[in-house]
Amino acid sequence: MSNQSHKLTIALSKGRILKDSLPLLAAAGIELLESPDDSRKLIFDTSHPEVRILVIRASDVPTFVSYGAADMGVAGKDVLLENDVSNLYELVDLQIARCRLMLASLPDADLEKPRLKIATKYTSTTREWFAKQGRQVEAVKLYGSMELAPVVGLADAIVDVVESGNTLKENGLVTRDHIMDISSRLVVNRASMKMKAGLIQPIIDQVASAVRDKAA
Ligand code: AMP
Repeated sequence: MSNQSHKLTIALSKGRILKDSLPLLAAAGIELLESPDDSRKLIFDTSHPEVRILVIRASDVPTFVSYGAADMGVAGKDVLLENDVSNLYELVDLQIARCRLMLASLPDADLEKPRLKIATKYTSTTREWFAKQGRQVEAVKLYGSMELAPVVGLADAIVDVVESGNTLKENGLVTRDHIMDISSRLVVNRASMKMKAGLIQPIIDQVASAVRDKAA
């Protein structure tokens, strides 16, 4: 997917990942020339003459990078766990968009019962987590509003990402188990890493250094 003037394409998603990635990319000399919030465009030029940014759905970032339509991207660990990442290198934990993947239910739900039904966007991760405990569960795939599922009897519990916990609370749900901590990762297409190392490696180094500076 080469472009005459752009040698490197980075895929980001709108919302908290975009907002929190931009200062890290700025440390590598990559700044958007216009705000995606004020535009319906999907491709953006940057202050770096050889770099352009795609703004796409978070769950599509691994696909664009795997197929080489983007050389690099920022994706949540939750999304990476649900996708084929065999064509990607996961290189830097950016420590942004941090949250926890939690099991949650109505307060009185019996989660020890056989044939547990779990509503989630994260069906593979959910099945694997229960399988590690020797339990087989039915994972019901939903694309949003997971919190509704236990309330209307679609599932016994949900697995979802939780930040403040307010969404759970407002829907009368409580957390039952902490599955894992989640944060966003810088991912790179394996072929791009080899073919464009001269362009990519300095960006990785500068972004990693900005992450360390922020943590210090
Ligand atoms: P909260 O009410 O702060 O716990 O946020 C929970 C809601 O925001 C849920 O609907 C989640 O799907 C979503 N959410 C929270 N943190 C993240 C994140 N880091 N990435 C994607 N979605 C998130």
